[in-house]
Amino acid sequence: MQFSELGLSAELLRAIGEQGYSTPTPVQAQSIPHILAGRDLEALAQTGTGKTAAFVLPLLQRLSTTTPSPLQKVGHSAPRVLVLVPTRELAAQVLASVRTYGAHTGLRALAVFGGVGINPQIQSLRRGIDILVATPGRLLDHLNQRTVDLSKVQTLVLDEADRMFDMGFIRDIRRIIERLPKQRQNLMFSATFAAEVRELAHAVLQDPALVEVARRNTPAELVGHSVIKVDKERKRDLLLHLFAAHGWHQVLVFCRTKHGADALARKLEQAGVRSAALHGNKSQNARTRALADFKDGKLAALVATDIAARGLDIDALPRVVNFELPNVPEDYVHRIGRTGRAGASGEALSLVSSDERIQLRDIERLLKREIASSILPGFEPQHTHEVPRASAGRPPAHKPAPARNRGGSARPGGSRPGGPRPARAGAGGSGGGKPAGHHSGQRHR
Ligand code: AMP
Repeated sequence: MQFSELGLSAELLRAIGEQGYSTPTPVQAQSIPHILAGRDLEALAQTGTGKTAAFVLPLLQRLSTTTPSPLQKVGHSAPRVLVLVPTRELAAQVLASVRTYGAHTGLRALAVFGGVGINPQIQSLRRGIDILVATPGRLLDHLNQRTVDLSKVQTLVLDEADRMFDMGFIRDIRRIIERLPKQRQNLMFSATFAAEVRELAHAVLQDPALVEVARRNTPAELVGHSVIKVDKERKRDLLLHLFAAHGWHQVLVFCRTKHGADALARKLEQAGVRSAALHGNKSQNARTRALADFKDGKLAALVATDIAARGLDIDALPRVVNFELPNVPEDYVHRIGRTGRAGASGEALSLVSSDERIQLRDIERLLKREIASSILPGFEPQHTHEVPRASAGRPPAHKPAPARNRGGSARPGGSRPGGPRPARAGAGGSGGGKPAGHHSGQRHR
């Protein structure tokens, strides 16, 4: 299918062409006709699938073909489309998409989010806008100050709805929804449909069209996953070694804590790897600058916490490194969603110490596959990586349990938890994902 078959206007097709896109992604092909027809939509689509354009394009089209009310014509600050997003970065990214695809439409868009002064936003709102992208907290601030009027909203988009729940925004969202006209179009995008997301969908969406482009919790298939087992205290040296040995130039590195991210970015910088940290304690200016420098190739490493995992759109990011595994396995999926976007291939490498074996096991369960692991000469772990049987999530067995293959998880050759196993190239679909020069060792279970 071509974009030209979707019934989009010449202005939009021109902007799409300028981006070099001719073929809609599956979520775009499936969603755009429903949105153009004015239907509500419930879409299960991860970031990286092209979901932003899937709602931005048809909404731009609908806005260009409907006339704003006279009040809006004279610059009243009443948007007709409201996009709610969980993070500042995603807000900035959605706004960039709106501006890119809407370049020839004359429609006006603005993003409002916290961490920056509210006054410039108030002034921009006064000048009048058609599309407002907002994080919930700052939008409520504007509502309380009466600097925005949501009474003309025709379409509400809830983007990354699951993340809104994770970040505790659900009350804010409900308060915002109360301020919207009852008659409106509602679109909800989410990477997972956990029970609470379904509940919100049920409350908000009217007879929605359903679009599902990725299986639940399935990470981008093109990403190669691999693990290097290493002791915790050697991780920094190992990471430096990998930068030096492979000449890595654009690596998104994930840490669990802000403090850890700062410390690692400093250490990398000291060792000559241009780096910056990206996390919630950084000012918006620092975050924007770090991201811009990283995208421009001025930084070899961006060291981020999970809060930064959503909403980062970096074209063709070749590599994500988990310096520490996340505690919540779903966050692994979000992290690696930064690479392998829209058809590009990428590598997700995790440095795993023995204290993280439970997290690794949970991630493998979620992925329903084993991740190939290896040990790098000179960085052999001294601590064991065995998962204690009692905490391996199995019922206590009175006699040895037969080999199991739970939920399709790959454990070829039967169950030999943690036992030495010969190297198996490409195991777990991670072929090509290993840095050169390390050998396969004992496998994780
Ligand atoms: P998203 O899932 O919205 O975060 O988009 C992921 C990436 O895919 C972004 O960098 C988009 O610019 C890109 N993209 C969106 N639509 C297409 C398309 N039809 N063909 C190729 N790339 C696309």
